[in-house]
Amino acid sequence: MKQAFNQRISSALTQRKQAGLTRSRRIIDQGNQARLVVDGQSYINFSGNDYLGLAGSKELTQAWQQGLSLYGCGSGASPLVTGYSKPHADLESQLAEWLGFDCALLFNSGFSANQAVLFSLLEKGDTLLQDKLNHASLMEAGMFSPATMKRFKHNDITHLTKLLNACDDSPSLVVTEGVFSMDGDLSPLSDIATVAKDNSAWLMVDDAHGCGVLGNNGRGCCDFYQVTPDILVVTFGKGFGLSGAVVLCNAECGDYLAQFARHHVYSTAMPPAQAHALSHALSMIQQQEWRREKLSELSQQFESELAGISGSVKTITPIKPIIIGEADAAISMSDKLKAQGLWTTAIRPPTVPVGTARLRVTLSANHSTQDVTQLTQAIIKLG
Ligand SMILES: *Cc1c(COP(=O)(O)O)cnc(C)c1O
Repeated sequence: MKQAFNQRISSALTQRKQAGLTRSRRIIDQGNQARLVVDGQSYINFSGNDYLGLAGSKELTQAWQQGLSLYGCGSGASPLVTGYSKPHADLESQLAEWLGFDCALLFNSGFSANQAVLFSLLEKGDTLLQDKLNHASLMEAGMFSPATMKRFKHNDITHLTKLLNACDDSPSLVVTEGVFSMDGDLSPLSDIATVAKDNSAWLMVDDAHGCGVLGNNGRGCCDFYQVTPDILVVTFGKGFGLSGAVVLCNAECGDYLAQFARHHVYSTAMPPAQAHALSHALSMIQQQEWRREKLSELSQQFESELAGISGSVKTITPIKPIIIGEADAAISMSDKLKAQGLWTTAIRPPTVPVGTARLRVTLSANHSTQDVTQLTQAIIKLG
């Protein structure tokens, strides 16, 4: 049945096309700058996750180059073989100290860090409770893990409490995000931490969009709420302007993950030069308070200029959703903005619930006040 795979592939693609949900990759030049270029056209980039403007920064580029001349290219092996070197160890201890944990363990991506934690921690009979809007990496790991997964309504403490009460004495893990990527809202971490503690559950927080941006010194959502989860995941593809991730936890859990997390054990360690650059990104996050100040000014400007416009949602994060409703309408809005040199992404189901297709506008410390005004005026004009 050599044809079976071909048939499966073509029918999945056809179905997607008929539903109008086919996605395509565009070749983007300068996608890590305030202005990106596609097919020779320049656009203001309101679509990235490079909130602090580090991804294209000269200073960070130089740090990576310095790392390359110090350590060469690849790490050469997985961490338990010979791939773990001083820049990795230094980065781990800097992150652990900064965020207030015993232990930090590096991964090559947030996706793999989330999968690694859930797959190595959970066993049959455990209960995994996840916010309905958690990232695909968490949802997928939960579905494939041997634990029983239950999803609580988005940020709904009452629902979470009810599900936890029904867990009897099975070991339970509550997983939520610090900032939700499609809505830009925060999870009520203090309440979630209390409920988890009252029910002897562990709490895991994925702070991909909060770390670097929110909290004292950019320490993220847990600092913002003064909560210490059992496990914290921070990814480096957003505020840090690079890529990779770290899992923070107590010393014994860190030891356990280093032994048993297969995404760590059987995957080549990130290049030491990248770890070196990440240490530099961390110091920029710690020392360049102006990036967060600028973001917060742009955020206030954006919201005051769009005050009273239907669909625009207030957030304290750089993620500013504009809810449009139907998928077609969101795409048409995004196309019209593109025609005016403004690059925003239309987000459609199944990424967001049906009827809540939206523009996901993201602000960056690289934007100017004029950039923001240009976008808000265009949105107002298009109604
Ligand atoms: C982006 C993201 C991830 C995945 O991180 P990568 O490093 O891009 O693989 C995981 N969780 C959340 C909440 C994210 O936004």
